[in-house]
Amino acid sequence: MSKFSDFNFKGHKALIRVDFNVPLNEKYEITDDTRIRAAVPTIRKILNDGGSVILMSHLGRPKDGPADKYSLKHLVIHLRKLLQGVAVHFAADCIGSDAIQMAASLQPGEILLLENLRFYKEEEKGDKVFAEKLSKLADVYVNDAFGTAHRAHASTAVIAQFFPKEKRMFGLLMENEVASAEKVLHHSENPFVAIIGGAKVSDKILILDNLLEKASDIIIGGGMAYTFIKAMGGKTGNSLCENDRLPNAEELLRKAAEKKVNIHLPSDSIIADKFDATANTSDAPSNFIPEGWMGLDIGPNACEQFCNVILQSKTILWNGPMGVFEMPAFQHGTKSIAKAVADATGKGAFSLVGGGDSVAAVTQFGYSGKVSYISTGGGAMLEYFEGKTLPGIAAILD
Ligand code: AMP
Repeated sequence: MSKFSDFNFKGHKALIRVDFNVPLNEKYEITDDTRIRAAVPTIRKILNDGGSVILMSHLGRPKDGPADKYSLKHLVIHLRKLLQGVAVHFAADCIGSDAIQMAASLQPGEILLLENLRFYKEEEKGDKVFAEKLSKLADVYVNDAFGTAHRAHASTAVIAQFFPKEKRMFGLLMENEVASAEKVLHHSENPFVAIIGGAKVSDKILILDNLLEKASDIIIGGGMAYTFIKAMGGKTGNSLCENDRLPNAEELLRKAAEKKVNIHLPSDSIIADKFDATANTSDAPSNFIPEGWMGLDIGPNACEQFCNVILQSKTILWNGPMGVFEMPAFQHGTKSIAKAVADATGKGAFSLVGGGDSVAAVTQFGYSGKVSYISTGGGAMLEYFEGKTLPGIAAILD
């Protein structure tokens, strides 16, 4: 692979796999353009070098071929606005004679956006023939879609083999994602705390298992904490609990003790008599929650306990909220953790926040500029930290 920033794109046509899977409202207006803006530095560098850019992406989950609702044509006006003065063309089919002809006549400094890749079922199947057809549109392949790096799709992984090693590379966004994840996974400074929250133990068991090999402290919050508390003999009332995961929780606690990793569970909880923003609330020890009540946030003692650990850490990984932060009554825990992560970062720690809900929380509470790195890929980030090889990354490195 080549290093993106060292490559001179002058005279080259670069096919970039971007993640433009943005939310659209009923008028097909983009309601959050974060993913598009995240790709701009990569696009700009190629154009500034004197190269041309061919963008390919998926949008939504079209089931049966082309559908207006999932057309990337809805993004063209927005792209033109973001990249003022740059010509943005649109190919109504991502392969075929029109796409070939438009790609061939693309001038340096211009952009061609291809129609939704998932209008072809071959994309998600990782079809080699489809990947090869896409590859013919350009002479350089750039993968800048970390959000789909865990998928072995035609455009995210399979296509790389059709470009010589020196003409395939990560884009700037992907480079940053990989560098930040590698820093946490393989070059972390101790103490290293992993803060894992969210609803389900079943979603997070693999990441917890892998982090036992890396972290010095693991904070477990959110709904998933109650399965652990129950596994330790606590009474968790009507809190979320995955009974079939109790053996996994026990095993994890045993392994942590063996490896001398400190597991921090919330000592107390904000409890509610129903899962509702207007529920009656109280607090209780997390291992003594009355029947009919459920823990929906970490309590004040747990907040203090967790924040102390975070403030002493040099490396911080955060995935998953501490409670039902979407409801104001149960957002205090997540908000306090966001502040502690920001404060620790201010004192020199390296912090990486990833996963849809924790990113949403950090942004909502105004700390997004105060952490070291916010990962854009939910599922991909989780799999990376589970220790898996991501096909989109492997294909570039191979
Ligand atoms: P996840 O997608 O697994 O990271 O879970 C995020 C979701 O977990 C959010 O929508 C939270 O509202 C929810 N959540 C966090 N804590 C709790 C809890 N104590 N009880 C129920 N749901 C929770």
